[in-house]
Amino acid sequence: MTQTEQHQFQAETNKLLNIIIHSIYTNKEIFLRELVSNSSDALDKVRFEINRGVEVIEPDQDLEISLHVDSENKKLIIRDTGIGMSREDVVNNLGTIAKSGTEEFLKKVSEEKENPDNIIGQFGVGFYSVFMVADKVQIKTQSAYPGTAPVFWSSDGMGSFDIGEPEEQISRGTQIEVFINQENEEYLDAEKIKSIIKRHSNFISFPIYVEEEKVNTISALWKESKFNISTEQYNEFYKFLTYSSEDPFETIHISVDAPVQFNSILFIPEHGTGMFDPYNMEYGLDLYVNRILIQRKNQELIPQHLGFLEGVVDTEDLPLNLSRQAIQENALIRKINSTISKQVFGRLEKIAQNEPERYNKFWNEHGKILKLGYMDFENRDKFCELLRYNSSCFDDADGLTSLSEYVQRMKEGQKEIYFVSGQSRENIVSNPHLELFKDKGLEVLYLFEPVDEFVLQAIGSYQEYPLKSVEHVDPNDLEQFESSQEKKEELSEDEEKDLDKLLEKMKEILGDQVTEVRASKRLNQSPACLVSPDSGMSSQMQRIMQVVNKDNSVPKQIMEVNPNHPLSKNLLKVYNKNPEDEFIKTATTQLFESALLLAGYLSDPHSLVNRNFSLLENASKWYTQSREM
Ligand code: ADP
Ligand code: MG
Repeated sequence: MTQTEQHQFQAETNKLLNIIIHSIYTNKEIFLRELVSNSSDALDKVRFEINRGVEVIEPDQDLEISLHVDSENKKLIIRDTGIGMSREDVVNNLGTIAKSGTEEFLKKVSEEKENPDNIIGQFGVGFYSVFMVADKVQIKTQSAYPGTAPVFWSSDGMGSFDIGEPEEQISRGTQIEVFINQENEEYLDAEKIKSIIKRHSNFISFPIYVEEEKVNTISALWKESKFNISTEQYNEFYKFLTYSSEDPFETIHISVDAPVQFNSILFIPEHGTGMFDPYNMEYGLDLYVNRILIQRKNQELIPQHLGFLEGVVDTEDLPLNLSRQAIQENALIRKINSTISKQVFGRLEKIAQNEPERYNKFWNEHGKILKLGYMDFENRDKFCELLRYNSSCFDDADGLTSLSEYVQRMKEGQKEIYFVSGQSRENIVSNPHLELFKDKGLEVLYLFEPVDEFVLQAIGSYQEYPLKSVEHVDPNDLEQFESSQEKKEELSEDEEKDLDKLLEKMKEILGDQVTEVRASKRLNQSPACLVSPDSGMSSQMQRIMQVVNKDNSVPKQIMEVNPNHPLSKNLLKVYNKNPEDEFIKTATTQLFESALLLAGYLSDPHSLVNRNFSLLENASKWYTQSREM
């Protein structure tokens, strides 16, 4: 060896190494999956360069991966004829962690205090996993780019690595010598290595040799006729592709010739990752041109709202040397995208029709992402059939209904579909705006996520029925529907007049805080609520928009008072005795602030709470007095 230099690993890398080395992960064999997948990536890269006419050294080398066991020196050697690495590449790629997957892994391990063993298998933790089984790793690599010097790298994974030049010439690609440690000598058994490769790397698209014997099948499964592929083969391919240990929820194999030729195998995973923000998640399909991998996780092949899909697309209609930019702008890719969308929506609709329970499972896992498809006009009709909501027809938050089921349950004469938003079912059922609907037995959809209202607003109506927030329904329009309660005694003309005066007084007390105080037709339990003048958005939606815009102002609303509530009747009595009685002021302010609190607008609850304490004090005084305690 010529002279070497010592470098320290980046802090993050050390952290990762520590987790990996000290984990008691039982499935250590995945280190092979990681090394083989890196070799495969390196081969893809060199093939890509050759195809676009970039000069590389030894262009006629076979593209392959080979493994040898050196039992005497307790070494496992993995070699590929791929793109190789320059000195700079080695320092950057094997000394630091730049990729998001690993960061995500570290974050998850540190944030959730989750045992890394449970997640190592699902994540490609990459090259460093080799230190689960090795006490030393040496790499010799020769970059494919002409004029680049070969590099030697060595490390025991304990904080630093050495880098230098290898003594002998080596041919293009990378050779990794894994010095297997004492506890893991089973990885020096060639038969064991073969079986691991078959298990985890069977679908690698380059030949893999173990002791000169080819062990993988290298067939492009997606190019075969679906009638020749068994469920087991699809499932095996899915597990290879995603590192998942469970079978997919659904498999979709597409082969089309027009308007564009492509083959694709798509999978819907059983579970959503739950880890990624749907707006920022990494999604996409692997793009092949005639069996040659062009790009992993290409995002142009599917719309974001189908981002839960995993799979591959292979087309013969694209040139091999397409740049990323060109892929993005390619009309062909857009056609593939739209064909895939149509097929996936079709499949989902079929599941929803034929296996509604199973569809609900899908919705619970992936609905959050699918919902974002409200701008997909081509598939609008199917999209509407696929939406699911909780509603007042269920006893708990688990029930789900489609819009079409809702319509079937609609009351005679009902011309609109009603919905209400809130963070949870508990939050929604106490919304005073629902009282009238409950009373009249009108079903209301419950929307738990902010995006739901955007979705319903975007689609506007279902069949011929407009979708309407309960807050925007005029109670007079519901008069045709019979109340389930006994008819309340109507106020006499005199009482009406008194009530009007009381309401005027309340408006005077609240001043500019409200636009109007009026008698409510929508309340039959709560004493008061706030109603927003129709702005197209429900108050929940407005509130969310305000939070987004960091707007702290309180919008001016109408306060509605329930004239039949005992509190109103008592207030009338007080008012008739003395319109200036302090109690009217206290009660009005308390009602207003409580309504504000319910609508999410009360920023400082102190005065509300203090008033509440003194009211309680009075109530307790009267209570004890009346009971002669
Ligand atoms: P990932 O494969 O997700 O990028 P890894 O930790 O597995 O992460 O590998 C880190 C990087 O090291 C790779 O991205 C690649 O640049 C480089 N690398 C690893 N193995 C090889 C190899 N056999 N040939 C060329 N480059 C490699
Ligand atoms: Mg890797």
